[in-house]
Amino acid sequence: MRDLTALPKAHLHIHLEGAMRPTTLVELAAESGLETPAVRGFSDFRAFVEMYVAACSVLDGERRLRRLVREVVEDAAADGVVWIEPAFYAPRYRSVFGDDRLTIEVVLDELDASGRRLGVGTGLIVAADRTVEPAEAVEQATIAAALADRGVIGFGLANDESRWPPEPFAPAFKVALDAGLLSVPHGGELLGAPSVAACVDACGAHRVMHGIRAVEDPELVRRIADLGICLDVCPTSNVELGVVERIEDHPLPQLLEAGVMCSINADDPLLFGPGVADEYRLCRDRLGLTDSDLARIAVWSLEASAAPADLIDRHVAAIDAWLA
Ligand SMILES: [Zn+2]
Repeated sequence: MRDLTALPKAHLHIHLEGAMRPTTLVELAAESGLETPAVRGFSDFRAFVEMYVAACSVLDGERRLRRLVREVVEDAAADGVVWIEPAFYAPRYRSVFGDDRLTIEVVLDELDASGRRLGVGTGLIVAADRTVEPAEAVEQATIAAALADRGVIGFGLANDESRWPPEPFAPAFKVALDAGLLSVPHGGELLGAPSVAACVDACGAHRVMHGIRAVEDPELVRRIADLGICLDVCPTSNVELGVVERIEDHPLPQLLEAGVMCSINADDPLLFGPGVADEYRLCRDRLGLTDSDLARIAVWSLEASAAPADLIDRHVAAIDAWLA
């Protein structure tokens, strides 16, 4: 049985605070004299988001934000991640740092330092919140564009797609695309195939976070396969949030069968449990993916990332060696 933590992979769909260690959450809350925010037992997407936001409240200064980033990179290294692209919504920290760009610069600086120390390549996705006015998304995209040569590699759109479609955010994505950033909106999780199509048509998506409900429209599946758009799939998240009933019902094998490029990711391990290597294991044990399938997905995760070509080449060779 091959060790899945030894399989080199890129982690493309992971929210920075959602990757906080549970022990760190407990420790930081205790230091502040707060009760530990609950991170389990959410009943629906809204309750999940409320828990996510509550967990962020322990990050009330630069030292703590840096610790979070450092530990996320350490945990990535332990999972065999050679390139990580965490997503981050900066306006949440205005009361702490005052300025979104400063907040993002702290995250970039620590990603770079920890990544160098641990041999993990890093790039940041600046994310907009779709439940907030689109003008704020344009501001975030403008900051992201200005930091494109400092480690920002993509622009995302997160939160509840069921009431906030991607079209109003097209101008923000245009700013990001013009700066050469990857377009990586969330879609096809809480809504079906048309929402995935909107990510492609309105946001120029290079990848779609989740995107799995594209499977409901065979024509769209063909289109995203032809365009080489990668779906950044998070199996446990989809079960925990009721997108699929059981892991065995997950459409990942069907999407692979149809030739769609997919990556495997953890989304928010703090709230859902498994890390990225666990998700690969789950796909092997419960979805019947072979090691050859998993190796191909690991190669795609690198190819769909913003990692430099030499990093990709080196690790694709290591993936071949893992499989041999
Ligand atoms: Zn996500």
